Amino acid sequence: MPRLFAGPGDRRIKRALCIVAHPDDIEYYCGGAVLLMTTRGVQVDFVLATSGDKGAREASKSRAKVALIREREQELAAELLGVKTVNFLRHPDAELVETLDLRKELVREIRTSRPDVLLTFDPNVPYRFHPDHRVVGRVALDAAWPSARDPLTFPKAGPPHETAEAWCFGGLQPTLEIDVSEVIGKKIEARLAHSSQTRSPASLTRRWRATAGIEKFHQVNLR
Ligand SMILES: [Zn+2]
Repeated sequence: MPRLFAGPGDRRIKRALCIVAHPDDIEYYCGGAVLLMTTRGVQVDFVLATSGDKGAREASKSRAKVALIREREQELAAELLGVKTVNFLRHPDAELVETLDLRKELVREIRTSRPDVLLTFDPNVPYRFHPDHRVVGRVALDAAWPSARDPLTFPKAGPPHETAEAWCFGGLQPTLEIDVSEVIGKKIEARLAHSSQTRSPASLTRRWRATAGIEKFHQVNLR
């Protein structure tokens, strides 16, 4: 059996795909890993299941307006992370459910992006966990293995693709720790691109400089 990837610097990784629920999830959980890959030429694509259309504290803002603002912020953050392709699936925020339709959508994304590694949520978090995060983690993993690999599953969703690994973030049993301190400045800059979600850029910067230099994943072999 092939060795697991050593981390974002592993030369066998040529393409990566991040599948998340909301704008700013990537910057929070894996922005440094993305930067370490894009700076050495790995193509990284982003897929967001929702546009975070309920991510506002004021009920006066319309969901369509919030979604528009947050998509623009995510595109700006992606640019700062060296990522060109951001696909928004535009499901309603906070209403994601595990369906075959969502699995098929993610199979199509995986078969289009054709990643060596999939970065997504660890779905195995007990008790308190954002339901959208749990659903995305579960459905993305099910989509990568075995659905996207098997030609008879969703044959109209593109040619089959085997993803070597998934790196699952946000879980309680990480097996891969990545030191992203060399790109922490850029990682913070990408997070700050989500200005509608940032009350105090100065305190976020201070906090993240102290705590966001290590990213943790549970590494899953899908080969
Ligand atoms: Zn989220």
